[in-house]
Amino acid sequence: MAKQAKYDEPLVFEIETTKYAKYHPPKIPVEITKTVGNVSELIPKEMQREALPNLPSLAEFQLSRHYTHLAQMTFSVDSGFYPLGSCTMKYNPKINDVISCDKRIAESHPYQPDETVQGNIRILCETDQMLSELAGMVRTTLQPSAGAHGELTGILVIRAYHEDHGEGEQRTEVIVPDSAHGTNPATAAMAGYRTVVIQSKENGLVDLEALKSAVSEKTAALMLTNPNTLGLFEEEILEIAKVVHDVGGLLYYDGANFNAIMGICRPGDMGFDVIHFNVHKTLSTPHGGGGPGSGPVGVVEKLVPYLPKPMPEYDTKNNHYYLNHDLPKSIGKIRGFWGNFSVLVRAYVYMLSLGGNGLKIASEQAVLNANYLKKKILVLKGWTLPFSTETPRKHEFVLSGEDLHNETGISTLDVAKRLLDLGYHAPTVYFPLIVHEALMIEPTETESKETLDEFTEAMKQILTEARENPEIIKNAPQLTPISRVDEVLAAKEPILTWQMFKEKQMEK
Ligand SMILES: *Cc1c(COP(=O)(O)O)cnc(C)c1O
Repeated sequence: MAKQAKYDEPLVFEIETTKYAKYHPPKIPVEITKTVGNVSELIPKEMQREALPNLPSLAEFQLSRHYTHLAQMTFSVDSGFYPLGSCTMKYNPKINDVISCDKRIAESHPYQPDETVQGNIRILCETDQMLSELAGMVRTTLQPSAGAHGELTGILVIRAYHEDHGEGEQRTEVIVPDSAHGTNPATAAMAGYRTVVIQSKENGLVDLEALKSAVSEKTAALMLTNPNTLGLFEEEILEIAKVVHDVGGLLYYDGANFNAIMGICRPGDMGFDVIHFNVHKTLSTPHGGGGPGSGPVGVVEKLVPYLPKPMPEYDTKNNHYYLNHDLPKSIGKIRGFWGNFSVLVRAYVYMLSLGGNGLKIASEQAVLNANYLKKKILVLKGWTLPFSTETPRKHEFVLSGEDLHNETGISTLDVAKRLLDLGYHAPTVYFPLIVHEALMIEPTETESKETLDEFTEAMKQILTEARENPEIIKNAPQLTPISRVDEVLAAKEPILTWQMFKEKQMEK
């Protein structure tokens, strides 16, 4: 436990004379946590600092104001409507945070012996069970840190399966539709595959004929998002699955849009073999700004042996939860310890507090909200709905601002910037790539009709401004801490420290 240190003394840590010290793996010296004196013996002399760090000394209220100010400079789901398509920025109930901050969870250590963290391993086991049930899978690994990491895990599992069946050399291709998220082809490349892109049909869905000519004995997998990034459900999914399975390939489900279907239908029943969940999208754990996420990966029976190890399990004979390392065909560890445990706990609490039916209602409401908002915005002239105009969307919809751009010179990016001034986080822009001047809106289930109506009014105001006072849009945002940035420069030469402010000063 930390003792209160005097200002000029280094902090001294002592561990309680430890009942569990005998369990610490021998390479981690227990003494390391005893006193700072011992630590300094472990660190080579030339690497030790001579003086204490010169940290500023602040009163609590100064610190509090600093962080409150920083929080006010950013936009979050807690401060307003955040319709960022494909990212599912729903409200995260605070009960999730309360439970995951419980001492028994937040202060447990992954090196503790299993018998001292039975409750935590039970949470892992039950999260695996609930996720597997929701997706129609058999087991789910909780290790991956995010959706993209889940994709890599899932494709490595698929590769291990093909290798184990003597087809590792032969299967060299992963098929991806042109509406896919960029992480899909990136994942395929990282796992050593060649990406084969197939073009969507006029209705925005997978072209079955194009798929049939793309598949072969080289196909390792098809990666698909369903509903896809246009918010359209792949109605021919059973035929699609058959085409891929008939050549010995497997189906990968990108679960970023799972918020549209949870509790209603299951990827496992559609013929998918692997799914990743973005629990920070679907299962209400915080994200945005690079916070920790989690991307559990569920698989069908035949892929279970290849999942990362260890897997949390329950030993019925000894009435004991434990981490099973004895998985000879596993692809190995892809992340340390238990994955992002505190994030997983939030997802666990969310699933338990809503229950199966509650999750279903959340999806139904998300779909209803998206279609309501889509109708309201389409009444305003300037936006069009490309692909299958008459087909209802699922949880999100993608508009095209091409007409508006041609008529007024105002681009989708300009509209997004102006929305910031009107108090909204901008929707996703310029994705998916198959829509010109794309604006991708996902209201989520947690927003009220009033919010959606107010947002429509803001969109209407922007259309009027585009025609009557375009300068105000071109110069937006004016009310945010930072106005327009040079996005190319910001991406290519980012300055991510306080020096950003210093350089600004020097320019002046
Ligand atoms: C967000 C997203 C991903 C990547 O997930 P991360 O959790 O951000 O790594 C993959 N596919 C789609 C369709 C997404 O929207």
